[in-house]
Amino acid sequence: MLTTTRQYPMVHPLKDVRLGDEVTSLAAGEGIYVQDTNGKMYIDGISGLWNVSLGYRHPGIRQAIIEQLDALPYVNPVDYSNPVTLQFAEKLLQLTPDNLTKVAFTCTGSESVELAIKLMRKYHQLRHQPHKNVITVLDKSYHGSYYGSMSASGIDQEISESYGPKVPGFLFHPVPVCRHCTPGTIAGDCLSRQLGQLEALFAREGHVMAGFMLEPIIGSGGIIPIPEAYLYRLKELCLEHDVLLAFDEVATGMGRTGKMFAFEHSGVTPDILCLSKGINSGYLPLGATLFSEAIQQAFALAGSHIEHLSTQNGNPIACAAGIATLEALEQPGMLEAVSARGQLLRSALDQALQGNPLYLEVRGKGLMIGVALRSRHRAEECLPPEELADIAGKLKRRGLIVYPFHTPGLTSGFHLFPPFIIKEEEVLEIVSIVRKVLGGR
Ligand code: PLP
Repeated sequence: MLTTTRQYPMVHPLKDVRLGDEVTSLAAGEGIYVQDTNGKMYIDGISGLWNVSLGYRHPGIRQAIIEQLDALPYVNPVDYSNPVTLQFAEKLLQLTPDNLTKVAFTCTGSESVELAIKLMRKYHQLRHQPHKNVITVLDKSYHGSYYGSMSASGIDQEISESYGPKVPGFLFHPVPVCRHCTPGTIAGDCLSRQLGQLEALFAREGHVMAGFMLEPIIGSGGIIPIPEAYLYRLKELCLEHDVLLAFDEVATGMGRTGKMFAFEHSGVTPDILCLSKGINSGYLPLGATLFSEAIQQAFALAGSHIEHLSTQNGNPIACAAGIATLEALEQPGMLEAVSARGQLLRSALDQALQGNPLYLEVRGKGLMIGVALRSRHRAEECLPPEELADIAGKLKRRGLIVYPFHTPGLTSGFHLFPPFIIKEEEVLEIVSIVRKVLGGR
């Protein structure tokens, strides 16, 4: 029903307040908690939108922002540099494998992906292979909402079609899951079949492929880890067929999975790495696209520049927050705590939800967690979006913010991405709220 009685001035992504969609106004935050304008407190179980990884009012980040604000709030990124942005670029490169030698700053995850797409295509253009311009992506992945990144996203295709024509040249390959294995656990014959499909793809399309881009753990699509064996074979195939490998670690990067980057779990290294979300703990808009010496060389040999400019790229205040974030992530025990709290949250949730007919499993790595739920009537079917929204609403009323996921035909449930500073008792508080809403035994 359309109500025009109350004028609401702004647009919220994916919502329409006039149509009755609810939006909560928040006024403050401290640690893992946020407070709404009525004074109600919530555990922010999804760290903002998976980005406020060190929680609210982090003293180090706050201080770094204030100092840079006083020193110099903005630097034109074309003709000028500044010590803070440079230092942050260097720090990022120190953390990544030696083949990655350049950082281009962006403002968002979508923009990091846009640049990755541009680099993959132009790399082959510069090497006199303009026919190599197809980018393969997985059919259940999400890469962003700008035209290139939206066109590269396998989920929500009907929505992106409605903004068509989309950017051409993306090939959607099936995500490696199958009917017999729960997402992320594919093995044996099922895995062999998926590897066979991957090999067939490269045999068929390798000669026109510029790149292969994927999330090492699919996030928005429902926390689906890509098997390590799949990543190893993919890397080999990319090398054999002169195809660049890009990892979209916008969600998984910067400690979220218990390692600084998710690719460290398998050891498979990319040619391009897209970051954003936790890069400065979400305090200011920032992203980065890191890329290899080979790509850099292709541009240099051709005397070509990287034509990608957005006014705020590499903003020094955002980068100062990034340095403070990295310093906190590098504190002894911080990433180990992400793994340990994640393990506790997964096992305690699994125990609490045993016996609930909706409950399928808890998946994830570190503090990137998905609670998979299924239809109460047909175990093999997803829980409908309305029921997921109802559960998320009930959790919120009890003081826990989560985010539902629904990938038709594959998986449904809700995400939990709490801040890394979460304490054990707060983990158990999350479990207790979920138990009260969903019930268990
Ligand atoms: N890539 C991945 C894997 C994401 O999860 C997201 C956002 O959820 C994006 C890209 C887009 O990032 P942003 O929303 O900052 O544009």
